[in-house]
Amino acid sequence: MNEAVLQCVGVTKSFGDFVAVRDVTFDVSRGEIVAILGSSGCGKTTVLRLIAGLERPDAGQILIRGEVASTPQRQTPPDKRGIGMVVQEYALFPHMTVRQNVAFGLNNLSNDQKKGRVAEVMSLVRLENLQDRYPHELSGGQQQRIALARTMAPRPSAVLLDEPFSNIDAGLRSEVRRDVEEILRVNDIAAVLVTHDRDEAFAIADRVAVMSDGELHQVDTPEAVYHLPSSKRVAQMTATCDFIEGVVLQDGTVDTEAGILAYDTHSSDIKPGSSVELVIHPDDFGIDENESGAMIVQAREFRGDATVLVIALPSGATLRCRQDSHCAITSGRRVDLILNRPGPFAAFSV
Ligand code: ATP
Repeated sequence: MNEAVLQCVGVTKSFGDFVAVRDVTFDVSRGEIVAILGSSGCGKTTVLRLIAGLERPDAGQILIRGEVASTPQRQTPPDKRGIGMVVQEYALFPHMTVRQNVAFGLNNLSNDQKKGRVAEVMSLVRLENLQDRYPHELSGGQQQRIALARTMAPRPSAVLLDEPFSNIDAGLRSEVRRDVEEILRVNDIAAVLVTHDRDEAFAIADRVAVMSDGELHQVDTPEAVYHLPSSKRVAQMTATCDFIEGVVLQDGTVDTEAGILAYDTHSSDIKPGSSVELVIHPDDFGIDENESGAMIVQAREFRGDATVLVIALPSGATLRCRQDSHCAITSGRRVDLILNRPGPFAAFSV
């Protein structure tokens, strides 16, 4: 990746006694999309507002293109940061046409330059023919693309997107998301996208910043936060998962009820003889139905594109296993687990 366009270093922000954002550090390079993933109220929007210059940090600093833009003492004003922001409700002006909306931030250009730039960004979002419409004459997806066009018009070096797809119908959402991603990538824009939807974060981001209670717990590729979460909390926030206990063997594997499994960990405390918990995802094991199986199918949920079996292990612990939609194994049947994956399982000390 290229040089960092945005850097948050130890950023903290409180509202009264309440610490909304605590010691947040991450950066975003040119052309990179970082998704901040977290549940409602965890501080995601506050991080965006801090980067945009709409809030002032109590500690730490924010650098934009290598220059200090925010410290507790000094703030570069929002309109001097070269950063665009797209919010959930699009915030298009209802009484202005699309063309007027998109031209809104281009006051420093001549009329001809404005016209040229509006045409350019409208073609970027592939909506050239809608310039004379009003926002209420557009679909949700089109409004979102216009909001992005307006944000991109002044050529920002970074774009902040706050839950940009949540007002779009589920059926259209992934299409609009792909469009937005393409626009960001083609223009080599650094982007921070806030979402509480892990599928969305995984689908669009180069790196996911997992946030809860005002803190970033892990900033890593989607594959790394999924397969090697840094804590149980991150594992639960980024995937449907179960935990299985075991003991670490001399050869660095873990002896569990589901077999001897390879492991990987962020923790330095895990040594032979330690008790650990491994993260198990529903796609980790296949099922072999047989009368002498050591486990029992406790429940079965048909999901349309998959069948999820809840498997009771001899200890009574349960694991969810995702099978295909044709799986006919029913509750009460005896089964064995068959390892599906080559990679190690994430381990935590107990
Ligand atoms: P959501 O996904 O619901 O938008 P979020 O993760 O974006 O949530 P924030 O909007 O950043 O969360 O808010 C984080 C916390 O800070 C919340 O508890 C919120 O109530 C509080 N907060 C945000 N802004 C202010 C403010 N101006 N004054 C007081 N408290 C605030």
